[in-house]
Amino acid sequence: MFGLKKPIETSEHTQSYYVATANNCTQYPHLEGQLNTDVVVVGGGFSGVNTALELAEKGFQVVLLEANRIGWGATGRNGGQVIGGIGHGHERFAKQIGATGIQALYDMGVECVDIVRQRVHKYAIDCDLTMGYMDVALKPAHMRDFEADQRHMESMGYAHPLQLLDNQQVREEVGSDNYIGGLLDRTGNGHCHVLNLCLGEAAAAADLGVKIYEQTRVTHLQQGRQPIVTTEAGQVKAKHVVLCGNAYLGNLVPKLNRRILPANSSVVTTRPLSQTQLQDLIPNNLAICDPRTALDYYRLTADGRLLFGGLSNYTGREPSNLLATMQNKIHKVFPQLQGVELDYGWSGQMGIGINRMPQLGRLDGNVYYVQAYAGHGVAPTHIMGRIIAEMIAGQAERFDIFGKIKHHPFPGGQLLRTPSFALAMLYYKLKDELL
Ligand SMILES: Cc1cc2nc3c(=O)[nH]c(=O)nc-3n(C[C@H](O)[C@H](O)[C@H](O)COP(=O)(O)OP(=O)(O)OC[C@H]3O[C@@H](n4cnc5c(N)ncnc54)[C@H](O)[C@@H]3O)c2cc1C
Repeated sequence: MFGLKKPIETSEHTQSYYVATANNCTQYPHLEGQLNTDVVVVGGGFSGVNTALELAEKGFQVVLLEANRIGWGATGRNGGQVIGGIGHGHERFAKQIGATGIQALYDMGVECVDIVRQRVHKYAIDCDLTMGYMDVALKPAHMRDFEADQRHMESMGYAHPLQLLDNQQVREEVGSDNYIGGLLDRTGNGHCHVLNLCLGEAAAAADLGVKIYEQTRVTHLQQGRQPIVTTEAGQVKAKHVVLCGNAYLGNLVPKLNRRILPANSSVVTTRPLSQTQLQDLIPNNLAICDPRTALDYYRLTADGRLLFGGLSNYTGREPSNLLATMQNKIHKVFPQLQGVELDYGWSGQMGIGINRMPQLGRLDGNVYYVQAYAGHGVAPTHIMGRIIAEMIAGQAERFDIFGKIKHHPFPGGQLLRTPSFALAMLYYKLKDELL
């Protein structure tokens, strides 16, 4: 397996299990020339595609510009865990958004998974969507957090049954002796083939009239009453611009860049496993996560592989020994997979904000942005697209809740934000080991 070549980043999709099993990698054209439209969306990941789709469903004319390929960024490379919830620790924002704001954030955290389900159903998207998810505990403090989470979710009206599991019960759900318990949600959260989901959503948007352009990087944004985005070979004038480049947006808008840190996470898949191995690992096909800062997240794929992610780092760079490191991580959880071959290994960048809440807002009267979902964006991107579309259609209520949450820049500027944050994360990793 260590003969596998490390993927090289190009404007084509990175080599991954997702790309190898994609239903249909439609090529959209490159933009050349001038366009006029209602809304131009920059970035073709889940945030951009869902914003475009929501707007098209409302009857807007939309142009979507993607620097590489649809789903090329975090969207087409992630762990595929479809988990509800928007950010963490809503109570911290009680002063700014009040109890109704907190309830609204909670409701959006449930609605975002419903949107994924509805999209898959409405547009017949073949993306292996499977419900079933479990948080696993490595120490008693994790179990105490899960108990509190369960109480909180139930008090907010969560409609799906949540079950706390002891060490024996958790062993029936996952073939590892590492865990002392878990919190099981069989129907509310789950997993899917994320690239196929995004490609299916993009195809639905295109069918509704969204003009999609790939390999079309936006190089300049001119704000104003009628903003203009400029690409290498074209320009789009629009009434509204929505920036959805997230960790890959770079310095197009320095104010956004200062508020986000691109962090790296890596994912591998094994070769297809036998039915006996699959039954031993995750017999009920759950997606699984532990709650550490540098967490393990894993699940099975529809073609019978273990897809395992982790190894977060804050340099934004892929580690050079990715496959060997990931194989060690798999063996720590599943010693029975000693020597299993890995077929694919890749990395991607997620945007992290200082307060770990997604950043949804507006730069100017008519330029909107969303970024910084950290490692939890598959479902949340879907509600963000809906809320931006509501805002552009004149319904500001849900959008305005996010405007009240302040997002400060990372200290240390461009040069020092990465080392400062890496130090802070090291502190949390040590805390995970000790407490
Ligand atoms: C390895 C990894 C594992 C993860 N696992 C999970 C998980 O299991 N569950 C979960 O919920 N979340 C997970 N996440 C997070 C989740 O993938 C992201 O939060 C989500 O995909 C963000 O989508 P997005 O559209 O905002 O950004 P992206 O998918 O990164 O899309 C941004 C797009 O914008 C384009 N772009 C940037 N700049 C420009 C420009 N100037 N012009 C045109 N286009 C531009 C980029 O090419 C890119 O395609 C993971 C992330 C990573 C990296």
